[in-house]
Amino acid sequence: SAQLKVIDQEKTHFFQNISHELRTPLTLMLNPLEDASGDYGQDERITVALRNSKRLLRLVNQLLDFQKLDAGKKELVLVPIDLRAFIEMCADYFESACAAKGVNFLVSCDGQLLESMTQPIWVNAELDALEKVTFNFLSNALKYTPHGGDIELGMFRVGDHVRLFVADTGPGISEEGQTKLFEVFSQVDETTTRAHEGTGLGLALVKSLVEEMGGQVGVESAPGEGSSFWADLPMGEAAKPLIDVLLVEGGEASLASVGAAIEASGRVGLVVTATSEEEALGFLEEQPVRCVVADHQIGGGDGLSLLE
Ligand code: ADP
Repeated sequence: SAQLKVIDQEKTHFFQNISHELRTPLTLMLNPLEDASGDYGQDERITVALRNSKRLLRLVNQLLDFQKLDAGKKELVLVPIDLRAFIEMCADYFESACAAKGVNFLVSCDGQLLESMTQPIWVNAELDALEKVTFNFLSNALKYTPHGGDIELGMFRVGDHVRLFVADTGPGISEEGQTKLFEVFSQVDETTTRAHEGTGLGLALVKSLVEEMGGQVGVESAPGEGSSFWADLPMGEAAKPLIDVLLVEGGEASLASVGAAIEASGRVGLVVTATSEEEALGFLEEQPVRCVVADHQIGGGDGLSLLE
C-alpha cells in the first residue's frame, strides 16, 4: 500500500502539470469560439464546439481545484451564507437543464416547497466551494436520472447543522460501490462511467471541500432505488448586510451630491454614509463593506489614513 500511495502521488503530480498545460490553449480557443458563436449563433457546429470546450475547461478546472486543495495551497474563507437563497439560485440554473431532459425537478426546504419559506437559513461556508458541491451533486443526478425521473434539491436543519441534499430516481448505488464513491478517480461501474464520460473526480472534490468547511458528506442509496447525496454544514450566525458603498464626507452638501450621483448610476445596492472617521470605522468593524469612498478631509480626520 505504500507503493500504491507513491503511484497515486505521482499520478496526482502528473495530472497537475497536465491540467495547467491544457488550460492555456483551451482558454485561447474559447474566446474566439465565443466570438464566433455571437456572429454565427445559428451554426450548430459552433454551438457544439463551444459547449464541449466549456465542458473540457470545467473538467480541467475541477482537476486543478482538487490538486490545490489536496496540496493545502488553498484555504477556504468561511462566511455566513443564506442557504435558502443559495438553493434558490442553484434551482434557477438547473430548472431548464432538467426540463430539457424531461426530468421533474423539485426544490424543498425543511420538508416544504421552497417558495413557502422566506426566512434565511445561515451556514458557515464559502460560496465558490458551496457552488461546486451543489453543482456536482446536481449534475451527477441529472446524468444518471432517466427521462421521466425526479430530482429533488433540498435542505433541512438538524441540531447544529444544515443538511443539503440532492435525491434522484436514478439507478442507485450498491453498498460496495458506496464505499468508494468519494475517493479520487473512483468509478462505481466502469460501464456507466464510460457511457457518461466520467472522471471520478467530482465527488472526491466535494468531500474535500465539505470537510474543509467543517462538514461531512454521505450518500443513502440502494440499487434500483435512486440515490440521495448529502452534505452537512455547520450552522452560521446571521450575516450583517453587505454595504456596497460606504461614503465618508464631512460636509453635508457634498455628502448629498455624491450620494445622489451614486444613486443615479442605478447599479449600487446598499449605500451608507458617515460624516466622521469614527463613524466610518464603526461601520467597517461591524459589517462587510465592498467599497469606501472618502473625502480627503473629514471633520478632524484624514480620508487617506482612513482608507489605509
Ligand atoms: P464522475 O461522475 O465524473 O465519474 P464523480 O466523482 O462525480 O465522478 O462520481 C463517481 C461515480 O459515482 C460515478 O462515476 C458514478 O458511477 C457514481 N455516481 C455519482 N452520482 C451518482 C448518482 N446520482 N447515481 C448513480 N451513480 C452515481
